[in-house]
Amino acid sequence: MGRTAIRTAIGSILLYLFSTASLAGGARVPDKPSGEYDLPATAINTDAIPAMVIDADAPDDEPLPYYRIAADTYMLFGNIAEVDEKNRGWNGNAGFVVTEDGVFVIDSLGTPKLGRRFLATIRSVTDQPVRYLLLTHNHPDHSYGAIAFRRNTDATVIAHKGTLDYIHSQQIDSSVEYRRGFIEQDMQNFAAVTPDVLIDDEHFSKKCFTLGDKRFVVYNSGKHHSHGDLVMQQLPQQILWISDLAFNQRTTFMGDGSSRQAIEGQQWLLDNFAEAKLMVPGHGSAQRAPFTMVSKTRSYVERLREEMGEAVEAGITLQQAVESSDYPDWHDTRLYQLNHRANANFVYREMELELF
Ligand SMILES: [Zn+2]
Repeated sequence: MGRTAIRTAIGSILLYLFSTASLAGGARVPDKPSGEYDLPATAINTDAIPAMVIDADAPDDEPLPYYRIAADTYMLFGNIAEVDEKNRGWNGNAGFVVTEDGVFVIDSLGTPKLGRRFLATIRSVTDQPVRYLLLTHNHPDHSYGAIAFRRNTDATVIAHKGTLDYIHSQQIDSSVEYRRGFIEQDMQNFAAVTPDVLIDDEHFSKKCFTLGDKRFVVYNSGKHHSHGDLVMQQLPQQILWISDLAFNQRTTFMGDGSSRQAIEGQQWLLDNFAEAKLMVPGHGSAQRAPFTMVSKTRSYVERLREEMGEAVEAGITLQQAVESSDYPDWHDTRLYQLNHRANANFVYREMELELF
C-alpha cells in the first residue's frame, strides 16, 4: 500500500470513528467555526467541560456547537465560568427538542447575539418552527438571549411569574450595564422579554404543553435560586431539565433564592422522578441515574445551613463566620473560590432571619 493509500485508509477510519461518535451523542461543530471550540467528546456523564472561546465577530447565522443527547433532543453545553470576554456570555447550558409539530426550546443563552446564533443552530438541525421557549429562570446566562427568539420567531415564551419582578427591577439594569462594559457588541439590541405564559401556581404544581408526540411538563420549583425557578420533564423520554436546582462539576451559587427551598426542591427531584433516564442541569454535563449531582449539591447546601446556623446561635459575626468557612473537599470544584464566600454570606443572613 502506498503512502497516499495508507493516508486515505487512516482518513476513512477516522471519519468512521467520528461519525459513530456523533451518532452516540458526540459534539457537532459547524464547518469552519469562527471561534475555538475545545469540547469534551460527550455531554453526558463526563468530568470534562468545554473551554470555548467565542468569536465576537462571528456571523449571527453561524450555528454553535451542540450535542445530540437523545433522539430529537439537543444540548448546548456551556463553559463553567463567570461571564467573560472568552465565553462572551455562554457560561450555561441550553437545549431544544424537535417534534413533528415544532421545536421546544429550553433557555436562551446569555446575550442577544448568542440567542441569534442559537436560533441558527436550531435551523441547522430542523425546518420546524420554534413553538415554545421555556425560560427556566431569570438569570442572565439563561434568559438574555430570549429577545432573539421574540424578534425572529412566533414562539410562546413560558416563564415563572417572578420573572416579571426581575424585569422591572434595578437588578436587571445593573446586570445589563455590567455586561455592556466588556461584551457590548454581543449585548446590542438587548431588551427584556415579557413572558406570554406565567407559571405561578402552588409549589411543585405542573402545567403540561404538548407538541407532536411529546409532552413537556413544566413544574414550579419555587424560588430556590432566583426570582422564580422551573423544572421541565420531557416525556415520553423521561428527561428532566433541572436548570439550577443542582449543578454538575460546579459549586452552586446562592445569591438570591432560598437555601431551604433548594433543599426541598432537591429532595423532591430525588423522591418523584425515580424513572428519570437523564437529568440536564443549567451548568455542567448531563447525568444518568444515579443523580449524584443532586445529592452532592444538596449536601453542600445542608452543610452550609448547619454551619451558618451554629455560627448565628454562637454569636459569631457574619464576617468571622464567612472568613472561617472553608470546605477543602470542594476546592477542586469549579467556581468554589468565587461562590463559596457569597453562599456563606447569603446563608448566614437567612439563618439569622430563621432563628431570630
Ligand atoms: Zn445558571
